[in-house]
Amino acid sequence: MLIILQAGSTTEEVEQVVAELAGVSVTGYPARSRGREVVCLTQHLNMELRTWLHAVCPQVERILDIKAPYKLASAEYRPEPSTVVVGQGNRQVRVGPGQFVVMAGPCTIESEEQLFQTAALVKQAGANILRGGAFKPRTSPYSFQGMGVEGLKLLQRAGHTYNLPTVTEVMESAYVDAVAEYADILQVGARNMQNFPLLREVGLAGKPVLLKRGPSATLEEWLMAAEYILSTGNEQVILCERGIKGFDPTTRNVLDLGGVVAVQEKTHLPVIVDPSHATGKRSLVTPLGLAAAAIGANGIMVECHPHPEQALCDGAQSILPEQLTELVKGVHSVTAAVRDIYEPEESSEVEVAA
Ligand code: PEP
Ligand code: MN
Repeated sequence: MLIILQAGSTTEEVEQVVAELAGVSVTGYPARSRGREVVCLTQHLNMELRTWLHAVCPQVERILDIKAPYKLASAEYRPEPSTVVVGQGNRQVRVGPGQFVVMAGPCTIESEEQLFQTAALVKQAGANILRGGAFKPRTSPYSFQGMGVEGLKLLQRAGHTYNLPTVTEVMESAYVDAVAEYADILQVGARNMQNFPLLREVGLAGKPVLLKRGPSATLEEWLMAAEYILSTGNEQVILCERGIKGFDPTTRNVLDLGGVVAVQEKTHLPVIVDPSHATGKRSLVTPLGLAAAAIGANGIMVECHPHPEQALCDGAQSILPEQLTELVKGVHSVTAAVRDIYEPEESSEVEVAA
């Protein structure tokens, strides 16, 4: 259940609700949503208890009976899809219904020359958001680990030069502030999807968060991870399906497109697809990127490189500049073809953090 307090309720008023609930053996967890103080409960309040709570706590405005274990992420709470606004000024992009975003860039930032060359081609191809890893979660400790803060600075400069908002991964709490300072979207990688302290930290940073699905996470676990971020009061969460573990090594992972549609039925949050990490193969990125547009996803994230054979990371799945241009054109044609089928009646915009 979700208890929504009146606008302007104080910390003491929230504490009073939690204390009253504790008195009837119900545990309430304070959170924030759409500028309001809320209290989340996993226990059910019957009619009698709801009437009593309204009487003893006049600051309680509404009590919603949300059945899903994730409350703020659920479509029960917000039936209309949310739009997350990323970047500012002439680098502002909306992620949500009515637009299909393409995030593109190298797996990892390798040098100023490589990043700026890639950013130029990302812009030229008509993609909307520049990606590039500065902190890389590598399977081997002996693989290139990323350029760190130096890479973040290059990413920010490239984004400003080409008027593109940026997205990059943050792997540990110690670097959340640095990543939030230089990038427009904080990416939580698949391996960190259930790093709960990190989820809280990125939530508190107040910037949009791209939450990748863990390689073995169920849709419910993924949405519970999103709930950690939302419960901090940060509602700018974009989900990203990037393939789950399968048994056939032909593809790196198995792209769960059915899961994308299913998760869209469960949540109001925008959902994008990463066909690069899902497949691990350049030749499969365009078909699955087009498939993401066909099923009504809100966008894609793809890796591209001007010279993939020289890439320090994920060259085999990085598409070439001309392929990116074709892919961007293709997803917009597919989106236009299916628009009438998926177009929602309404969307509610998530406030951009100050
Ligand atoms: C990435 O996007 O650079 C990445 C490492 O992806 P994932 O977390 O999905 O493996
Ligand atoms: Mn990669």
